[in-house]
Amino acid sequence: NNQVLLRHFVTGFPKDSDFELRESTIELSIPQGSGVPAVLVKNLYLSCDPYMRTRMAKSLQVKGYVDSFQPGSPISGYGVSRVIDSSFPKLKVGDYVWGFTGWEEYSLITEPEKLFKIDHTDVPLSYYTGLLGMPGMTAFAGFYEVATPKKGEKVFISAASGAVGQLVGQFAKLFGCYVVGSAGSKDKVDLLKNKFGFDEAFNYKEEPDLDAALKRCFPEGIDIYFENVGGKMLDAVLLNMNVHGRIPICGMISQYNLDKPEGVHNMAMTIFKRVKMEGFLVFDYYHLYQKFLETVLPQIKEGKIVYVEDFAEGLENGPAALVGLFSGRNVGKQVVIVSHE
Ligand code: NDP
Repeated sequence: NNQVLLRHFVTGFPKDSDFELRESTIELSIPQGSGVPAVLVKNLYLSCDPYMRTRMAKSLQVKGYVDSFQPGSPISGYGVSRVIDSSFPKLKVGDYVWGFTGWEEYSLITEPEKLFKIDHTDVPLSYYTGLLGMPGMTAFAGFYEVATPKKGEKVFISAASGAVGQLVGQFAKLFGCYVVGSAGSKDKVDLLKNKFGFDEAFNYKEEPDLDAALKRCFPEGIDIYFENVGGKMLDAVLLNMNVHGRIPICGMISQYNLDKPEGVHNMAMTIFKRVKMEGFLVFDYYHLYQKFLETVLPQIKEGKIVYVEDFAEGLENGPAALVGLFSGRNVGKQVVIVSHE
């Protein structure tokens, strides 16, 4: 059973060498007499997610959010898996599931009630790491529930070509909003405009003056800013918000590897402009998962929503794929393929 372990706690930007691959053995059946229901799964796809950076640190800033990975132990995260043994009545051998699993070929899951059973297998299974999994729910909840959009509003999204951003943009377009995204390369900007149907997009790395770029794209100001990056971008956006704008605070990836977060100088704009900024965590919105599937599955099948994934082949290439999130190496949702079936 090949596994990816954390070698040591991480400070600064994570590197591939912070992880190592280990071979271990595992019984391919559930141990007898443990008393608690469990499932044994074969992992197919693993999800690379920015929040995993928090788990690489020794001390967590917020208790009760997630636990740190332990040096010398396999790391874990969201994944798509197939059940190969089960003592949990709601899941049987052959079922596909998504949820928390180990970065390894096979995992024994001792909290099977937390897994989502996959009922729709006529879409790519890897979508349950992204479009139909945690990042998809994040986009859905953050846009419809937190941003409370109105038709015709002007929406800006940062890290817009990523797992969450590409969906927020497509939801906002289908809803009838004007949509602009920022991303870190020309290819990503092309994707935003030509594949995901954004009205405008710009490469923030080539815009020394973010305020000018935002004024060019939003001559009438921004009503909703879907915040994925924080730092300088948030500061520039605050100056360009409209009165009574909303900022769902989804993530701040530009800050995750810094010892000290950068200051946001324009915070007072939230007062003058009566802007509602709201942090949210996807975990609080999983009760909407059925509603989400009922909305999004038909949109996928009708071709109204598309999704771009970036595959790393093999568990051994997982660490590089994971740390690549923090340099923007991924184009679309970063997935690690452990096994094709
Ligand atoms: P992505 O697929 O968007 O991958 C991360 C991307 O972030 C990179 O490709 C890169 O794109 C961009 N990025 C990396 N470093 C920086 C930087 N210093 N400044 C600006 N952009 C940077 O990831 P996700 O879609 O999975 O996540 C997007 C955000 O949503 C993250 O902040 C994440 O933490 C948050 N999140 C929050 C959740 C919640 O419950 N609140 C749940 C899920 C995600 P580029 O080349 O464009 O720079």
